[in-house]
Amino acid sequence: MKEHPEWAAVSRSGKSTATNPPYVDYYRWMCPSNPDVQEFLKKDVQAMLDKDYVDGIHFDYIRYCDVILASNLWDVYGIEQLQELPEYDFCYCDLCKSKFKEKYGKDINEMKYPQTSLSWKEFRYQAVNNIAGELIQIANKHNKPVTAAVFPTPDVAKKLVMQDWTNWKLDAVFPMIYHGFYKEDVQWIGSAVQQGLRGLDGRFPLYAGLYLPDFKNVNEVDEGIQYALKNGAAGVSIFGEGNLNDEVLAVLSKYRKK
Ligand SMILES: [Zn+2]
Repeated sequence: MKEHPEWAAVSRSGKSTATNPPYVDYYRWMCPSNPDVQEFLKKDVQAMLDKDYVDGIHFDYIRYCDVILASNLWDVYGIEQLQELPEYDFCYCDLCKSKFKEKYGKDINEMKYPQTSLSWKEFRYQAVNNIAGELIQIANKHNKPVTAAVFPTPDVAKKLVMQDWTNWKLDAVFPMIYHGFYKEDVQWIGSAVQQGLRGLDGRFPLYAGLYLPDFKNVNEVDEGIQYALKNGAAGVSIFGEGNLNDEVLAVLSKYRKK
């Protein structure tokens, strides 16, 4: 960030995350359309996968900044996000705007409500999809798998963080199905798994990401796992591992394949 502040994503209000991080200080995003950013990430992944002791790559934060936060976080940040607010909507850097104009013939600066433009949304999904695709190709050449932690369902991922993960050619996906973040019950885990699998149409397996602090007790963890598996998840992955105690481990071991 210090060497290349020009790589940082810019909001609809014209602020760079290099100088004005949204929500929290560590929220510093790179512009996905910038070829230098793409090269930087490719070199990084290449160098990691060249090591014989690295078995694969796991993506996280391969998305835009949250243009709308999960509803349970509204209280935390004291913001009511019923719509896309300009300071959380990215990337409106000059490069993105000119690439969009080149491709779609439309000038973002002349659009009254660019946040409602379907082609502008599509352009931004594609920018991230392109990066994911290039990194996946590098992994394929190394014969090493790629997985990703993504937002909980295809719809929520697009709406909150403009992430189009069903179109990535992954080896497996780990949607963060954190029911508490969305003020949902444990049962919702099953519904989210179903939605993800419909979007994937059998192209790769889905492991439901469960957030331990969202469960009231160990029986609920067990229920969550059952909802995930009954609805077709290949397994579960555990987040919030600080809560991974012996009781939870005992539940997990029941489902372990012999
Ligand atoms: Zn940009």
